[in-house]
Amino acid sequence: MADVVAGDPAGRTLTTAGGDVVPYDWLIVAIGGAAEDFGIPGVREHTFRLYDLEDARALRNHVLRCLEQASVETDPVARRSLLTIVLVGGGATGVEMAGALAELRRHVVPSDYPGIDPNQLRIVLIEATPHVLGPFAPDLRARAQRDLVEFGVELRLGTVVEHVDADGVALKGGERFSARSVIWAAGIRAAALASRLGLPTGRAGRLVVEPTLQVPGRPHVFVAGDVALVHGQERLPQVAQVALQQGVAAARNVLHAIREEALEPFDYKDRGSMATIGRSRAVAEIGRVHLAGALAWWAWLALHLVMLIGFRNRAVVLVNWAWNYLTYDRGLRAIVGSERPPSERPGEHDARSTGPGTGAPETAPPVAGGGFEPPTSRL
Ligand SMILES: Cc1cc2nc3c(=O)[nH]c(=O)nc-3n(C[C@H](O)[C@H](O)[C@H](O)COP(=O)(O)OP(=O)(O)OC[C@H]3O[C@@H](n4cnc5c(N)ncnc54)[C@H](O)[C@@H]3O)c2cc1C
Repeated sequence: MADVVAGDPAGRTLTTAGGDVVPYDWLIVAIGGAAEDFGIPGVREHTFRLYDLEDARALRNHVLRCLEQASVETDPVARRSLLTIVLVGGGATGVEMAGALAELRRHVVPSDYPGIDPNQLRIVLIEATPHVLGPFAPDLRARAQRDLVEFGVELRLGTVVEHVDADGVALKGGERFSARSVIWAAGIRAAALASRLGLPTGRAGRLVVEPTLQVPGRPHVFVAGDVALVHGQERLPQVAQVALQQGVAAARNVLHAIREEALEPFDYKDRGSMATIGRSRAVAEIGRVHLAGALAWWAWLALHLVMLIGFRNRAVVLVNWAWNYLTYDRGLRAIVGSERPPSERPGEHDARSTGPGTGAPETAPPVAGGGFEPPTSRL
């Protein structure tokens, strides 16, 4: 639970939020990333991010609250805003989230919210480039786009967000969506600590390293994962595969350095990419093999099952998935705790020193009157 707030590479120490100064012989920095807002006004204050479990829980609570509120709202303008969900960013996170929301609309809304016509729940996906799933091959991008449209997701491609406010999203060109739920999945930058380690930073605040993952001029410091910007390999995706392989490579190079052996350059083995859009809809690119539809979806499930740790976990997840698949049951839909404003995310503040307690406690008192409030004034 120690939160590192600063580093001194010359003195080879780290400082924690509790004031401890931790000396090191070798350091591997693997602090990951945070949402990138590109300086667009209102993103930090008014959007939900989807970066960790806390985010996911806050977003689930929020979406369910909007549906509850909409089912008793009589003002048509307010109801429409409650029933509009805007996602910004058509990468894997935005596409998968849009697909999941479309499934919620199709399978959950009719049974749990009989007062809401599922067609009134709008899911809008905004993407600045002309495609969704940019890193995928063109045929898979097109397929994902087609699947999303068939699922009733409204796509706004080649469209840039100008600002976000408490009432929704304004696009460049004048279009505006009035929406209580804006989900930001448009980019990633280095975790806040990266700028306080006294190490060279590059694009999106990431730490610049040699192909050996060593920081230039700092032979005792290595960097791995989302926060690393590897010289000559700048286009490596910020995904778990890269992070896992770099973790191993950095550790191996620390051992080489201790033994005064030559360091090895990082050599990424791309095992492919997958994105799931909904029930029986996914795309997978594994080398030259391109899969789409049910086959890709089953491959996605199988891979994620295999990657789970331990037989018990795999067996439990398999049974749960089979149950969900056969019954269309999407699991528990309890609203737990009060809402946390998107701006109060732990880990994204400049002063990370306040630690995980930065966010509003789950036990914070509910909004006066028990009502739903827009993101800026929820607590
Ligand atoms: C919604 C979402 C879906 C994704 N889906 C996929 C996917 O399907 N496939 C895939 O390959 N990748 C996926 N990714 C990307 C993947 O999660 C990352 O690439 C991977 O987690 C990066 O690993 P990392 O070790 O670099 O950083 P992280 O996993 O982010 O770990 C960094 C750790 O450092 C800690 N930390 C940060 N700052 C400090 C500090 N100051 N002091 C102490 N600790 C600190 C953090 O708390 C965190 O635990 C997804 C990412 C997101 C956000």
